[in-house]
Amino acid sequence: MPDDCMFCKVVSGEVPADVVLEGDAVIAFRDINPQAPTHVLVVPRAHYPDVAALAAADPAVLAELVLVGRQVATAEGHDDYRLVFNTGAGAGQSVFHVHGHVLAGRPLSWPPG
Ligand code: AMP
Ligand code: ZN
Repeated sequence: MPDDCMFCKVVSGEVPADVVLEGDAVIAFRDINPQAPTHVLVVPRAHYPDVAALAAADPAVLAELVLVGRQVATAEGHDDYRLVFNTGAGAGQSVFHVHGHVLAGRPLSWPPG
């Protein structure tokens, strides 16, 4: 794991986070800069740089991440939600430890900006 990875530090507890759900292999915590009434990040405890790397290395953990994302939305009272994986700096990825954004609680337009 890279020493300077923000989400590895959240997983280890070195950086505090508002954790909303924990699974065997993933944790879910609120984004510090929320873009919707519900904006939660779901991350694997193990470090992978992006969603494709996770899919290649451990598809079962990716499936757990997706299911925990739905649990987060349901727990917050939302049937409809968006699960986003920004992949690469050009697509808006700024933390290179894979994370799914769970966004819900307001109208979500398409296409995203
Ligand atoms: P992305 O730009 O897709 O890589 O998403 C990174 C997200 O992580 C952004 O929405 C940030 O607001 C969020 N973020 C960065 N550091 C933290 C942190 N320590 N706790 C919670 N969210 C964070
Ligand atoms: Zn990491």
